[in-house]
Amino acid sequence: MNSTIIVGAGIIGLLTAIELQKAGQKVTLIDRGFSGQESSWAGGGIISPLYPWRYPDEITRLAGLSQLIYPELLEHMQQATGIDPEFLQSGMLILGDHSAENPEAWARRHAINMQPVDATQIRELAPEASDRFETGLWFPDIYQVRNPRLVSLARTYLKSTDITLVEQTRVSDILIKEDRVTAIITDSEPYTADQYLISGGAWTSELLKSTGFDPGIEPVKGQMLLLKGAAGKVRHITLSEDRYLIPRKDGRILVGSTTEKSGFNKQPTTDVRHSLLRYAVDTVPALASHEIELHWAGLRPGSANGLPCIGRHPSLENLFINSGHYRNGLVMAPASAQLMSEMMLQKSTCLAEIDYAPRDVFHLKK
Ligand SMILES: Cc1cc2nc3c(=O)[nH]c(=O)nc-3n(C[C@H](O)[C@H](O)[C@H](O)COP(=O)(O)OP(=O)(O)OC[C@H]3O[C@@H](n4cnc5c(N)ncnc54)[C@H](O)[C@@H]3O)c2cc1C
Repeated sequence: MNSTIIVGAGIIGLLTAIELQKAGQKVTLIDRGFSGQESSWAGGGIISPLYPWRYPDEITRLAGLSQLIYPELLEHMQQATGIDPEFLQSGMLILGDHSAENPEAWARRHAINMQPVDATQIRELAPEASDRFETGLWFPDIYQVRNPRLVSLARTYLKSTDITLVEQTRVSDILIKEDRVTAIITDSEPYTADQYLISGGAWTSELLKSTGFDPGIEPVKGQMLLLKGAAGKVRHITLSEDRYLIPRKDGRILVGSTTEKSGFNKQPTTDVRHSLLRYAVDTVPALASHEIELHWAGLRPGSANGLPCIGRHPSLENLFINSGHYRNGLVMAPASAQLMSEMMLQKSTCLAEIDYAPRDVFHLKK
């Protein structure tokens, strides 16, 4: 049996650990905090890219494969743990005129169920929405998941396996001899294995500093509001002007988000609080009476074009990277975990048409 150490227990590290364990690997997962408490906790949990036609085809493929994997994976983990991740088919309504970008051609090419809607259809789908919206796009098959529940589900499931979870242990260095990693240095003790994987989210480039390779992953802050609400007030995931409303099962409503480059600063700000609330009320006027329950920020692992880095380190043969999923880490997580695990186990990949040259870190082919 081969052994793997994974650094970073966000959704990417958690699901990759589970994939590798299923394939018979002895896995140790290390996080400096508690698992799943960074970006994977902070996000919105929409199981689709926003404005999905704007992304490279590789992201469409990873998202599409994950959309196929999620129902069975979550059902299996829920059965084993009793934790409900609130995986709901909410549908996604994108308001505004996007005809210049021709999303219909994109949807036809990828066989995505998407319907253009006019003012009357918008009133039927979302009677709560402001009547200033005359046109939009309706994606009936889009799901959401509730982030804190998803990461708690994955963590609890993982603890029922023989994966070793080491929390509150910061990785400070990677020891290298010739073209191999020999140990991961932590605040407490060194850890050794046959293979190593870095899935450190926004901190991935920092973690890799001593290896001489920078995958160009940088933190992109996103702020969120949680409004108290009654179930049914907002019916669907509703998106416009790069902001969105997500109705949770219990009636609470998430309002997101921003994309701010301010280093590793996670402090929420008053101006964004006001602007998110203004957006919510402009979109659904009835939200004016809803109280803000929580306001937070998370750090996305930002990458060029949102393309993740999934592959082998360019010069260290037993070191791998699965990170840089930017705004789509939740939706791409199951497929990325499967792809990474297949590469590490040198199987043919689940996305066979994606270029994969062993020893090359690859940003999914552009
Ligand atoms: C506001 C917001 C909204 C979002 N909405 C969506 C959405 O609707 N849909 C979607 O698909 N995606 C969404 N995302 C993006 C998604 O949340 C991320 O892409 C995804 O969570 C990244 O997962 P990760 O495991 O790579 O990173 P993280 O969850 O950040 O995990 C990285 C882990 O590495 C650990 N770590 C870092 N440094 C060290 C170290 N030195 N030693 C040990 N451990 C370390 C951290 O503690 C952390 O637990 C959103 C993100 C934000 C912030």
